[in-house]
Amino acid sequence: MSSALPRRIAAVVTLLALLVLSACAAGPASHARQVAAQPSPSASPSASPSPSASPTARPTPGSLDWYVSQAPTFPEAPPPQPVPLPVTGPIPFWHRLPTDQKVAFITIDDGGLARPPAVADFIWRAHIPVTMFLNSPAAEEHDEYFRQIQVAGGVVENHTIRHNSLAGRSYDYQKQEICGAADKLETLFGKRATLFRPPFGEYDSTTLEAARDCGAKAVLHWSETVHEGKVRYQTPEKVVQPGDVLLMHFRPALMDDLLAALKAIHRAGLTPALLEDYIR
Ligand SMILES: [Zn+2]
Repeated sequence: MSSALPRRIAAVVTLLALLVLSACAAGPASHARQVAAQPSPSASPSASPSPSASPTARPTPGSLDWYVSQAPTFPEAPPPQPVPLPVTGPIPFWHRLPTDQKVAFITIDDGGLARPPAVADFIWRAHIPVTMFLNSPAAEEHDEYFRQIQVAGGVVENHTIRHNSLAGRSYDYQKQEICGAADKLETLFGKRATLFRPPFGEYDSTTLEAARDCGAKAVLHWSETVHEGKVRYQTPEKVVQPGDVLLMHFRPALMDDLLAALKAIHRAGLTPALLEDYIR
């Protein structure tokens, strides 16, 4: 096991210093600055994919370099204007964020099924903002994997403990599932979850109450799903709209799903942004 990721961060910081010195601090540099400023995850070593700076101009299809080369170049994201949140009463449940800003949001769920090893490096190198809605047992078992994505800029949020449907269950049951996961995720990743996604998107008014009582500011559904490299629109427009939330999972084709989401967001003239910059 190596400590490739911390080393890579150190390398990037050095590179960044050079870039800043040469007055060339563009988007990627500011991203690197932001990531480098985060507390380093306890970073015991990990199954980090080795950095692979390919000397060839044409990366092998399916390699990390290839995925990075296929990622679209986006217009700079607008400065985020957080959406209004109710001061009292139930927290909101959103399929799409109420914003006109030209942004869309990538979310990745679950965590127990598959964890393709190159994802953290892809997110890091292509500057992909992602929110992970994790089940706490999977997060605990594979914490180092998710911490690498956190270092790359990803944010961990709450998706219950057992991934059971919450709709129709008692307040106590729902609160145990939501608060129990929030407590565990906070211990693992050092941040209290502020967003909640109910398993299968199934919820009732008790869910909103329990989620609020466990620290959530909003409950998120989705407007598109992405699976095996294909985007499926849940809305009649068949194009990503401002504020849309794209759902994918930690499954074997996650690299393809990330790429498909980026391309769909790019086709729509939008830029991927971080949910937590808009729900504060
Ligand atoms: Zn799920």
